[in-house]
Amino acid sequence: MLTSPGVGHVAPVAELARRLAAHHGFTSTIVTYTNLSSPTNSSALATLPPGVSTTALPEVPIDDLPADAHIVTRILIVVQRTLPHLRALLRSLLDSPAGITVFLTDMLCPAALAVAQDLGVPRYVFYTSSLMALSSMLGAPELVRTTTCEFRDLPEPVIFPGCLPLHGADLVEPLQDRADPVYDLLVDLCLDYLRGDGFIVHTLNAMEHETLEALKDLSDKGVYPPAYAVGPFLRSYSDKSAEHNCMQWLDGQPDESVLYVCFGSGGTLSSTQTAELAAGLEASGQRFLWVVRLPSDKDSCGSYFGPGDHVDDPLSYLPEGFTERTRGTGLVVPQWAPQVEILGHRAVGGFLSHCGWNSSLETVSSGVPVLAWPLFAEQRMNAVKLEHVGLALRVSARVDRVVPREEVAAVTRELMVGEKGAMARKKARQLQAEASKASVPGGPAHQALAAVVDMWKCAPSSPAVAAGG
Ligand code: UDP
Repeated sequence: MLTSPGVGHVAPVAELARRLAAHHGFTSTIVTYTNLSSPTNSSALATLPPGVSTTALPEVPIDDLPADAHIVTRILIVVQRTLPHLRALLRSLLDSPAGITVFLTDMLCPAALAVAQDLGVPRYVFYTSSLMALSSMLGAPELVRTTTCEFRDLPEPVIFPGCLPLHGADLVEPLQDRADPVYDLLVDLCLDYLRGDGFIVHTLNAMEHETLEALKDLSDKGVYPPAYAVGPFLRSYSDKSAEHNCMQWLDGQPDESVLYVCFGSGGTLSSTQTAELAAGLEASGQRFLWVVRLPSDKDSCGSYFGPGDHVDDPLSYLPEGFTERTRGTGLVVPQWAPQVEILGHRAVGGFLSHCGWNSSLETVSSGVPVLAWPLFAEQRMNAVKLEHVGLALRVSARVDRVVPREEVAAVTRELMVGEKGAMARKKARQLQAEASKASVPGGPAHQALAAVVDMWKCAPSSPAVAAGG
């Protein structure tokens, strides 16, 4: 199981490996990249069950890339340059007594499918985002070929199979600038998906049923490989989570009264936006728990690989006196908090989220409504989805604009104590019920994973199963 860097990728891979071991008797090797690794990635791999091991592809030089290269460019170049090492690893695993039953690659590494294909190994993409994102990526090369303007300037909304109409500006962010080298790399990545035997998608069938059906139709016609909706997986990060001071603070708050504010593992705001968000939360009068990052005026994914060498305290960038003035109603936590546990706490009644897909599934699993504030990657598309299903209110649909404090205060109040918020909360509870049914034996996610696993076990080239491994 090859995983790209970033906890939003590594953690679901670890959980899939755990499920394959616990329910289907598989042993797995999780393969990571030494380049771009981070302490949070490592913590997601810290406690793995017996039968699940890890190995890292060696570091490759990328110092020829410009300092301002897009983060996805960095990742995709690392993926390309490590392919010879991956080939050597797969060969050695093939020569081992267990062999390889199936090779799974992360959604950012489909270039690796060619290596598995050469070696005759069954190969699947583990897609850690929505089916809507997958459908749009499969359709993107055609859109690239048939249009000349930037996607955000497309005059009409685009309709991908089984998806809501999407404005060009809501398509994935690395495809928004044809002049950036990341654009061509991403188009190649979309084409590489077609080398796979299928997609294992970390999503909830009940939220994306139409897209699943449309992709099934296309796979029956031989257009795309088949897709299986196997989510949501819910897991926690560390046994120490319960000891985090924010959990004790939550224990002292009334039911559903706290807005949890977090922009994923790496989302960052500009310094102006950080100040406006702080002022808006304060003016809203609502309780909040805010995971604060160092502001970045350069880009919105500045801390994707962790805080790096920064020694600065993010809390020191908050407005003068903010922490003292909000002491009764708010708690600020620097850098990182145990999100799954927080969302599951009875005191949390809303989630101001960047709409990363893991965060989206975690909020669904916890029945918590969302204030959608997308930043980068496919997050705008996810926000459209969450708003459409009735789970989210939207902060601001405009790109590149500072959201003023008045708007932050108004939407916060609407989500926490307004009518629209109450409706979103009701919808969140309905989806939570669907999510909890999905993974139990007989549920759609459980059945989908079992069906694909049966296929792997029956495939002729499955020496691990033949040898009882
Ligand atoms: N996360 C967390 N604590 C934090 C920030 C993030 O536990 O303070 C976890 C969160 O629960 C989710 C993951 O990190 O599982 C972030 O993944 P997501 O897809 O939402 O966003 P990304 O980080 O990929 O932008």
